[in-house]
Amino acid sequence: MISNRLVRNFSKELGFDLCGFARYEELTEESDRLEQWLECGYQAGMLYMERNRDKRRDIRQVFPEAVSVISLGCNYFTPFSHGSDEQGKISRYAWGVDYHLIMWERLATLIEKLQEIDPEFKAMAYVDTGPVMDKVWAVKAGIGWQGKNSNIISPGQGSWFFLATILTNTEFEYSHILADHCGTCRACIDACPTNAIVADQVIDANKCISYLTIENKGDIPEDFSGKFDNWLFGCDVCQDVCPWNKKFSMSTDITEFFPENEKISIIPQKVLQLTPEEFKEQFAVSPIKRSKISGLQRNAAFLLKENERQ
Ligand code: SF4
Ligand code: SF4
Repeated sequence: MISNRLVRNFSKELGFDLCGFARYEELTEESDRLEQWLECGYQAGMLYMERNRDKRRDIRQVFPEAVSVISLGCNYFTPFSHGSDEQGKISRYAWGVDYHLIMWERLATLIEKLQEIDPEFKAMAYVDTGPVMDKVWAVKAGIGWQGKNSNIISPGQGSWFFLATILTNTEFEYSHILADHCGTCRACIDACPTNAIVADQVIDANKCISYLTIENKGDIPEDFSGKFDNWLFGCDVCQDVCPWNKKFSMSTDITEFFPENEKISIIPQKVLQLTPEEFKEQFAVSPIKRSKISGLQRNAAFLLKENERQ
């Protein structure tokens, strides 16, 4: 028999700091909110958000045996930070090895260990991919509340953690949903350089530097000139200002998330000089490879142009 405690102990041993359990249900309200978000066009070019809506609403469409959802959080905070006028800043999540590589391996081990205890245990795991609303399940599993910046905030840890979601056929004792502790704070909304947080927990990707520098396949609109605050890949502003992060962030034990050679930014001129071979070699196991060399060089050129104008 697999207990909550067993899953918590195994997951902790494997480097997951947070673990919670939610009962299967159809995500009706949350799916309706997703529909509204899509109707507003806030997904920008992320067309995958428009697909598989039925599966997002009902995880039994991808895993018919689903009885429970285990939500896991993996801390990636490291004790480094950007200088105020640093150029070519990289988002904290991308300083080390690609989290998918780290987490998939650990999730596979976790599932194997649980199947050794109970061969009937069946599971399907996701890290940030697939038609699973990982933030919704994290809230339902008591990992944290969804902050106004849309990130999940854990009361003892802040929001610098990656989420993983396991759908399973096994029953557990279910976690309590935590209260929202944003209160009257609106530091993230006020600090966002491009006013991308258009309502509590609602991000308009068309305006978000993270989207514009990573997933965006087109040009960065000129309207954003002067607003990028030297971000080359991603943006951490709405998490950097969050009081829960200022108070509770602690360094991760996972050394793969530490920046290689303490490198947390890349000078835009150097990015423009990269050859495709050098890009491939330097970012082979980094989340930065996602933007491809064309995306990273587009961002670098935008920053240089922006700095010339100032
Ligand atoms: S990541 Fe940056 S641009 Fe996007 S919402 Fe947060 S502060 Fe705004
Ligand atoms: S900065 Fe304030 S409002 Fe924004 S997520 Fe953090 S606590 Fe909530």
